[in-house]
Amino acid sequence: MNKKPLLFASSEVYPFVKTGGLADVSHSLPKALGETYEVCVVLPLYQSIDRKRFNIKLMESFEVIMGGITYAVELHGTRYEDGEYRFFYLPLLCDREFLYGPPECGYEDNALRFALFSYAVTEMLRRESYCVAHLNDWQCALVALLVKEDPTISTKTLYTIHNLAYQGVFDPHVLPQIGIDERYYTMEALEFYNQVNFMKAGIVYADAITTVSPTYAKEILTPEFGCGLEGFLQLHRRKLHGILNGIDSEHFSPVKDKALVECYEHPKGKKASKIDILKHFGLKGGTKPLFVFIGRFAHQKGIDLLIETLPKMAELECNIALLGEGDEAYHTVLQSIAEDYRNISLTYGYDESLSRRMYAAADFLVMPSLFEPCGLNQMIAFAYGAVPIVSRVGGLVDTVKKYESFDTESRSGFGVFITTPTSKSLLSAVKKGCELYTEKKRFETIANHNMQCDFSWSESAKAYIKIYTRLMK
Ligand code: ADP
Repeated sequence: MNKKPLLFASSEVYPFVKTGGLADVSHSLPKALGETYEVCVVLPLYQSIDRKRFNIKLMESFEVIMGGITYAVELHGTRYEDGEYRFFYLPLLCDREFLYGPPECGYEDNALRFALFSYAVTEMLRRESYCVAHLNDWQCALVALLVKEDPTISTKTLYTIHNLAYQGVFDPHVLPQIGIDERYYTMEALEFYNQVNFMKAGIVYADAITTVSPTYAKEILTPEFGCGLEGFLQLHRRKLHGILNGIDSEHFSPVKDKALVECYEHPKGKKASKIDILKHFGLKGGTKPLFVFIGRFAHQKGIDLLIETLPKMAELECNIALLGEGDEAYHTVLQSIAEDYRNISLTYGYDESLSRRMYAAADFLVMPSLFEPCGLNQMIAFAYGAVPIVSRVGGLVDTVKKYESFDTESRSGFGVFITTPTSKSLLSAVKKGCELYTEKKRFETIANHNMQCDFSWSESAKAYIKIYTRLMK
């Protein structure tokens, strides 16, 4: 059977370049779709991407005209693990130290950079025929509008919101530069409180919209989680679906993870990893529970709560290891707390293999997010036999069940809930974790059950395929 061609556009894709969960999804979802579709994944060829390592070669060049200016685009390509990848090289888009800007703010010309990316993606849809273009986040949202404007393109578009907090909002003076006509500057289209909002283009003009968990799909229709777009999303709710993200269970597998000192199939096998990580961080006491936090130092991730609670957590019989990067102000405060307590270790930075060693070593993963579209960390924690301690929001609700009602027959993973977004609740959840840890047998049974759960893409990929199929009818 001939597979239908599908274009998957994303501003970051693992293993080429990654700042967060979007890159993981942009790697693992196309891989899962590969059995049914001929998937081509397209992303910018940032300067940080190692062209040699991935054997990325120039294929051809073309031009795009945006706002009356002609830009030369180099199209590069490679095959990686049976997947087809294309990269656009444009100096304005790619020659930067960071993808979107330094941690505190985005680059000033991000509107131009990612509009150009969207023009290049649209040009690809003009030159090659794809049945569906799957667009991700604000960085490629304009593609939906550009496709609708061009009667020669018959490709259907699906737009996925990975995080509504990042919408790509810019001053309206960019409109002529990005070649978008004034008539789109209305409340029904791109205008948003006297600014231009790229994400709105995806919401209005895409043929279908998805977000990354069923609970988040409901939450974003409310003022609490809608980031000002709740009313607008309600208008378009008929084409909005919540599909849970999965993880690449080949990659996040303690049975074959080469980063680990010793691979394992059962939580008992985590011991060697724990010894390794405690030594690495200079922490003492292998019999105490180890709590880890891995993620962006951002308000969303509950860092303020964590900062407030860490000194009280440190008084408990436990070790705490933190890995992340983000706001400098958070880094400074976390560093001073870590200096005050011998059982807290802080690593500032982004380190993929260290993160996996930490999941393997951890007894608990702490995730006090204020909102969480899906969250991958809790699923990775399940896979590595670390019990997640999570707030009751978004995808965390869809993936974690409370350990108090543990049931061996359940197909869900179990963890500890932080009942309200307060330091008191976080501390009480951590204390529950410490108590559970003392019941060795029960703790291991839960961790082992979690390790066996299926958080792969198999079910969710089917849900996407169902939508693509409907769009093509
Ligand atoms: P985000 O909102 O940041 O996209 P997700 O939970 O969707 O959060 O995905 C985060 C991904 O990034 C996970 O694979 C997590 O392990 C990884 N990650 C986050 N911060 C770091 C870090 N400092 N070093 C290594 N991996 C990290």
